[in-house]
Amino acid sequence: MNSDQYPLIFDGHNDVLLKLLKSDTPDAHELFLNGDERGHLDLPRMRKGGFGGGFFAIYVPSNISLKDLFAEMSKPEYDVPLPHEIPFEDALPVAVSMAAILSRIERYSKGTVKICRNASDLRQCFENGTLAAIMHIEGAEAIGEDFSGLEVLYNAGLRSIGPVWSRPTRFGHGVPFRFPGSPDTGPGLTDLGKELISTCNHYKMVIDLSHLNEAGFWDVAKLSDAPLIATHSNAHALCAHSRNLTDRQLHAIRDSGGIVGLNFATSCIRSDGQSTTDTGIDQMLRHFDYLIEQLGIERVAIGSDFDGATISDEIKDVAGLGALRAQMRAHGFDEETMKKLCHQNWFDVLERTFGE
Ligand code: ZN
Repeated sequence: MNSDQYPLIFDGHNDVLLKLLKSDTPDAHELFLNGDERGHLDLPRMRKGGFGGGFFAIYVPSNISLKDLFAEMSKPEYDVPLPHEIPFEDALPVAVSMAAILSRIERYSKGTVKICRNASDLRQCFENGTLAAIMHIEGAEAIGEDFSGLEVLYNAGLRSIGPVWSRPTRFGHGVPFRFPGSPDTGPGLTDLGKELISTCNHYKMVIDLSHLNEAGFWDVAKLSDAPLIATHSNAHALCAHSRNLTDRQLHAIRDSGGIVGLNFATSCIRSDGQSTTDTGIDQMLRHFDYLIEQLGIERVAIGSDFDGATISDEIKDVAGLGALRAQMRAHGFDEETMKKLCHQNWFDVLERTFGE
């Protein structure tokens, strides 16, 4: 067994579907399957890095300049204004296009990629070496008031919903990219948002708390009967970014039997909140230690944000995950712990969420 590539990593968040959508070609799935070396993710590089699968986000982009966003986030303190709400009729066609890219990836992968609908699908993929994808929507704009979008996307394989990205939706309110900042930035879920939570419970889908403001977080904690899951978030005590989770939130996640996926975005890792590739893996290990201390070893996992964030140049892209494993081992994590952090904890919490 090559310790560079094992244990395989199951990951809480990536934005490769957005990158493929922006490539603006009907053969976007081919770019993924054959590899095109752009950004952080494609299938050949995933194989090289021992990336066994993860959540693939459907994310409808806001009409904002990412260049302006990153320029704002290079200041010592920043507060990026929340983008406007995106109407259902604008969000739906984009969400369908992105779901279609993931469906085509599966269809043309010759059995090497599978959209997983339950935990036994995931475990089987890891046994056979098939890339395991969970279809996730980051910001539920495309769901619609009568949840018709949820019904259709569920049948296409959707198993995870983040009610908001960092902007308002008809369901709730996202946190801004603010540093330093608290996640307590406004009102909780709307009545429709509360209905969405019980619908997700009914369908046994993941409700993702990453990007949700604190009042919304507590609404979900109160209403949901599923384990609390933050797919890509870090510890606010170490990096006072509004996207990160306070100790109180971490304890609620622990008590629900939930999980936090460690986000590789350097602005959510560094104590100075800066978005720069010049960030050591040692900074990520601080968050692993802290999250394990607050949550326990069973409740911590990985949520890379590959293709959606600025990531340490010690990792560079998914092919560089071996460097992360090497530093985790050198840090003292034994093989049992490595397995838990890399994928086992995700599988366990998803099994309890999906109920099979
Ligand atoms: Zn995100």
